[in-house]
Amino acid sequence: MKIAFIGLGNMGGPMALNLHKAGFSVEAFDISMATCEALRAQGLSIADSATAAAAAAEVVVSMLPAGQHVERLYMAEGGLLGVIKPGALIVDCSTIDADTSRRLAEAAEKVGIEAIDAPVSGGTGGAIAGTLTFIVGGKAAALERARPLLEKMGANIFHAGDAGAGQTAKICNNMLLGILMIGTSEAMALGVANGLDPTVLAEIMRRSSGGNWALEKYNPLPGVMENAPASKNYAGGFGVDLMLKDLGLAQENVRAVKAVTPFGALAHSLYAAHSLGGNGALDFSSIIRMMQKPE
Ligand code: NAD
Repeated sequence: MKIAFIGLGNMGGPMALNLHKAGFSVEAFDISMATCEALRAQGLSIADSATAAAAAAEVVVSMLPAGQHVERLYMAEGGLLGVIKPGALIVDCSTIDADTSRRLAEAAEKVGIEAIDAPVSGGTGGAIAGTLTFIVGGKAAALERARPLLEKMGANIFHAGDAGAGQTAKICNNMLLGILMIGTSEAMALGVANGLDPTVLAEIMRRSSGGNWALEKYNPLPGVMENAPASKNYAGGFGVDLMLKDLGLAQENVRAVKAVTPFGALAHSLYAAHSLGGNGALDFSSIIRMMQKPE
């Protein structure tokens, strides 16, 4: 099966590599030449442009930062909807607003192409290990067409509902993740301020009623978990500005459906302040710096 993979960042790079290693014929592209070269060195075939990658593909996978990037790639003038062969399938794994996902599915259908939204959870560790969770919106038959690929990149595949439903479920999850990371950071910082050993505290809470994903996989304090972004100066991982985008998407949706999410709103404000402080490119677990005493 010929696959075009567009967007080779922290997530897309390892996902594309997993498809390549699984034996699919992958033509990949990213607007960052440095990123392309790094992946070419790992064996990935790099196309000259997104158009060149997509023209012959049976499946086009994209992993881009936000809705405007997806809109531009597929739906703008000269976009990929005019390039991809009828009968092909689009699997957009980016976390974007549900409205753009729905519009993409509709616009694709008009030119004989199926499109599903398939945002992921599991972080860069999950992308590298091929254990991501896919949260899919779109037709069940289109998901079945994508399943052989998704299984090579992930361990869990959920069908959330029609087009856009994957995005809605994903922002519910990420709103909770943003809140959990702030709560975990507060608790870790409080313990350390009292002189507790952070590794011991992390293990106590991980196995007690405060246990959560941040404590399991992604402790925000440097040195507690060797492979967590916190121990790598908050490099790589899931950027503060990407978390801010997701919390913003959640709050837009909250207004649309008149939901009540006080902690989601507060998390959005705290990440906005953290980004404004010059931390937008750091991993989102760096929010703990807001709760630590200056050295
Ligand atoms: P990233 O910024 O590391 O990568 C995005 C890549 O897209 C960059 O390499 C950029 O050059 C490329 N790009 C942008 N516009 C392009 C275009 N028109 N054509 C080709 N390439 C283009 O971001 P990421 O961390 O890989 O996240 C990607 C998406 O996955 C985001 O929507 C994010 O919210 C979501 N996500 C990230 C994580 C994580 O842990 N990093 C986890 C789950 C979901």
